[in-house]
Amino acid sequence: MGIDFISNELKALQDSALLRDLKTIESAQDSCVQINGKSYLSFCSNNYLGLANHPKIKQSAIEAIHQYGWGTGASRLISGNMLLHQALEKKIAEFKGTEAAILFPTGYMANLGALCSLVSKGDIVIGDKLNHASIIDGCRLSGATFRIYPHKDVRQLESLLQRSSAWRRKLVITDSVFSMDGDIAPLMEIADIAKKYDAMLMVDDAHATGVFGKQGKGLIEHCGLEGKIDIVMGSLSKAVGSIGGFIAGSKPLISFLKNKSRSFIYTTALPPAACAASLAGLTLIQEDTSLIDRLWKNIYFAKSQLSKFVNTIPVESPIIPFIIGSTEGAVNLSIKLFENGILIPPIRPPTVPPGTSRLRISLMATHSEDDIKRLIDVLPRTWL
Ligand SMILES: *Cc1c(COP(=O)(O)O)cnc(C)c1O
Repeated sequence: MGIDFISNELKALQDSALLRDLKTIESAQDSCVQINGKSYLSFCSNNYLGLANHPKIKQSAIEAIHQYGWGTGASRLISGNMLLHQALEKKIAEFKGTEAAILFPTGYMANLGALCSLVSKGDIVIGDKLNHASIIDGCRLSGATFRIYPHKDVRQLESLLQRSSAWRRKLVITDSVFSMDGDIAPLMEIADIAKKYDAMLMVDDAHATGVFGKQGKGLIEHCGLEGKIDIVMGSLSKAVGSIGGFIAGSKPLISFLKNKSRSFIYTTALPPAACAASLAGLTLIQEDTSLIDRLWKNIYFAKSQLSKFVNTIPVESPIIPFIIGSTEGAVNLSIKLFENGILIPPIRPPTVPPGTSRLRISLMATHSEDDIKRLIDVLPRTWL
């Protein structure tokens, strides 16, 4: 026995088409990437606006390295807190329309840090069934009683809250744009219900930041709920093209998290250059609205093209779930697409529920109509 279970488990994964492997990108992150010396159209990045390799972002990071060096050498509360962390937190608060914000090294850590500080044993946290893994992990780790409602089912949410009056604190949490399905949460109804039952509301706007809203501020802006969500979570690693996560909200909330969040306190501060890149990304989103316009033009174009051969795929965001069902089927389709120069890895359990393995198509502002046509041409040929 000893450590033998590892090879047994790996074999079990292999036998059920669940073994994952890494593809190495040899180029910068763009809509076209290089793998093994060959060029592939990428339809699987969260780099929705193409900012990850944008000249202004690169330039900002380079300038920050010249001025502040690379590493931070300590956590924020010891000596790692630098000018650019402060500037970025101020910018995020302004961008999200809140009093303040707190930065975490990743969005995953932001969810863990916030959830574990806000609720614990004796409290209840209620979330959508399809919430992101980082939310689920945070809910579990918090020690609070954790209940889920069926996907987007606000009636069930309300009935759970009706039965929750005995708990000390109540927290409702939802993704705004669901990461594996691309559909959007009924935020206005959820906000009304949370208020009615005096529960805190936390919204994970990771996939909506830089994508939804007139100014790209996210689904909360899009729904006219700015300033009305207690805890706003976001990632700087997707449309913003950088790295990092954040919580935005009231000044007391942010001070509380700075004092209580273990994933903020016990980890080294982000490099200042990463903050400079995020600042540049948020500024670009605010100043150049053509980026978001181009993304949405591509979303509508893909939707119209897709509807020519399947009309059952919901297209509500840049994330389009192409559900196959069986794990083998999704793996095989991904391989066939790869042979045709298109990169879309299969999404399998436990990331999605069993029987719903899929290819998750992600669109970018930097795809051309020809890129999208090529995907839509190849998809039915390889699928059927
Ligand atoms: C990606 C993602 C996160 C985690 O953000 P990172 O910055 O990548 O750690 C959290 N929530 C949702 C919904 C996400 O899609």
